[in-house]
Amino acid sequence: MTDTVYDLAVVGAGVMGQFTADFARRRGAKVLLLDQWRIGDPRAASFSLTRSIRNDYMDPVYARLAFEARQLWLDFQRQTGESILIECGCLNLAKASVTPALSETYAERSYRVLEGLHLKTQAFDREGLEARFPQFDADLGRLDVEAGVMRVTPVVSALRARLQEASVLIEENTAVQRISRRGGLIAIDTAAGERAAERLVITSGLGSNDLLSRIEGCDLRLPLRPDRPNETKYLIPPAGKRAMFAPDRLPVFAYLDVGIYGHPFIEGETPGVKIGYYNPPDLNARPTSITSVQGFIDECMPALRDARMVDVQNADQCSYDLVADDDFILGAIPGLPGAAVGAGWRGTGYKFAPLIGRTLTELVFEGTTVEDISRFAPSRFEVSRAR
Ligand SMILES: Cc1cc2nc3c(=O)[nH]c(=O)nc-3n(C[C@H](O)[C@H](O)[C@H](O)COP(=O)(O)OP(=O)(O)OC[C@H]3O[C@@H](n4cnc5c(N)ncnc54)[C@H](O)[C@@H]3O)c2cc1C
Repeated sequence: MTDTVYDLAVVGAGVMGQFTADFARRRGAKVLLLDQWRIGDPRAASFSLTRSIRNDYMDPVYARLAFEARQLWLDFQRQTGESILIECGCLNLAKASVTPALSETYAERSYRVLEGLHLKTQAFDREGLEARFPQFDADLGRLDVEAGVMRVTPVVSALRARLQEASVLIEENTAVQRISRRGGLIAIDTAAGERAAERLVITSGLGSNDLLSRIEGCDLRLPLRPDRPNETKYLIPPAGKRAMFAPDRLPVFAYLDVGIYGHPFIEGETPGVKIGYYNPPDLNARPTSITSVQGFIDECMPALRDARMVDVQNADQCSYDLVADDDFILGAIPGLPGAAVGAGWRGTGYKFAPLIGRTLTELVFEGTTVEDISRFAPSRFEVSRAR
């Protein structure tokens, strides 16, 4: 066993692992953050130019958690002095010729959830939309006001700088071979030698099962599955029209009934308006006329018809970590005291990252959490339970 004993070892240095390490070091813990790749590897889900931060879920539990996480992002922004969150809101759209039952659309249903939670919203009919957001051709718009777009690059550098200043050891390009209990500690055998810690957090995204299988005596396996957007494009408007797609005029936008989401154009930082199209395999929806980014532009965003469309490259080539029952996985690892796992964010995790980091830290240091996370317990997938 090595001489150095860490209070906490975190395996997986995406945004979840970085925030976990950050919350642990804030309580004075000696932390090791380990990753098989380097931080910022485009294969990891956390690395891109922008991520949306929004509260507009159809499930009030997720909406409330997203709003709480937003407060932690604002704290992080204040502490770092970096401008990381562009508060442009998130506009959910619907058009009767595409989804005729307007009252049953994602826009309308998530709006009712936000209203129920007394979060800030604005509602637009066709005329209201034309006046405020002339970029769109739609019948209904519901704005989640306290939402926006996150600049990922400064988040990554601010987090890394904070961790390094606090002497968190970041070991990149380090593969984990085996994890076991030894001498009352958690021993992590890596290609670079053995590491010992009092506690362990696994935030390894789609690599979580590989790690769980390396824990001696652990039969937990998570029903995770990778999936990717069907396409993600940058729309580069002609020079004279760019201002109307900047975040002071264009919010994050989505038509989730047809799998469309978009981020405004951040001049000098992104190549254009980002629009993704994702048709989840299990989406129980009727086919509509929109089956691509181009289809959405033709139908709902005429202001971009003369924009140049290019593929998003070097970012967002990563995958979502879908979960069989479509809920987060967050909680203790059965059979390994002092250890917890967080995974299965289903393409929507970034906005929750500080909350997840705080929760995982509470879990391994105190054995209890401020948030009720019983619904997300990993033990629901324990193999021995299914027997
Ligand atoms: C295309 C796309 C768009 C998205 N858009 C949004 C959005 O707009 N808003 C939003 O809120 N969320 C969004 N998300 C989701 C969000 O980005 C992810 O939920 C979040 O980044 C997951 O972070 P993570 O730290 O769990 O995973 P990752 O960033 O994947 O990090 C996991 C890390 O674990 C490491 N690892 C894996 N296996 C091992 C091992 N055996 N040993 C050591 N290290 C290991 C990996 O190398 C990796 O660095 C999007 C996701 C994708 C893919």
